[in-house]
Amino acid sequence: MTEAEILICPACDAANRVPRARLIDAPRCGKCKVALFGGKPLALDARRFDRLIRTGSLPVLVDFWAEWCGPCKAMAPTFAAAARDLEPGFRLVKIDTEAEQALAHRYAIRSIPTLMVLADGREVARQSGMMDRASLVRWARMAAAN
Ligand code: ZN
Repeated sequence: MTEAEILICPACDAANRVPRARLIDAPRCGKCKVALFGGKPLALDARRFDRLIRTGSLPVLVDFWAEWCGPCKAMAPTFAAAARDLEPGFRLVKIDTEAEQALAHRYAIRSIPTLMVLADGREVARQSGMMDRASLVRWARMAAAN
C-alpha cells in the first residue's frame, strides 16, 4: 500500500494524490497550481463540502457558525490559528449555518459554534461552544486518531 493522501484543491476542487512524505513540501494542485494548503480555513457550500468529505482522505475539522452569533465571531481567530497548527494533517472548513441550512439540518446542529471532526466522511466527534487554540488542536488530533 502506498502511503498517500487524496487532497481536494481549495481553489478548483480537483483531487490530488500526494504521498504522505510530501505533505510538508507545500504541495500544489496539479490542475490549477494553487497551494493545496493555505494555512487558513475554507468557507465551503454544501456541494464543495460533500466533495471534500467524500473524495478527500484527510480528516476534516468543521466550524459551524453564523454571522449573528457573537461567540462564533469570538471563536473565528482561534479557529483560523488552529488551521496553521493542524495543516497538513487536517482540512479546516467553515460552514455558514444560515447559508447552508440543509447541512446544518443534516448534522442536527442545535447550537453554534459547533465544532466537528469527520474522518472517512463520517462524524467522529463534536463539541459545542468555544475552545481555546491548544484545546481545539489536541481535541481534533485525538478525535481523528481514534
Ligand atoms: Zn486546483
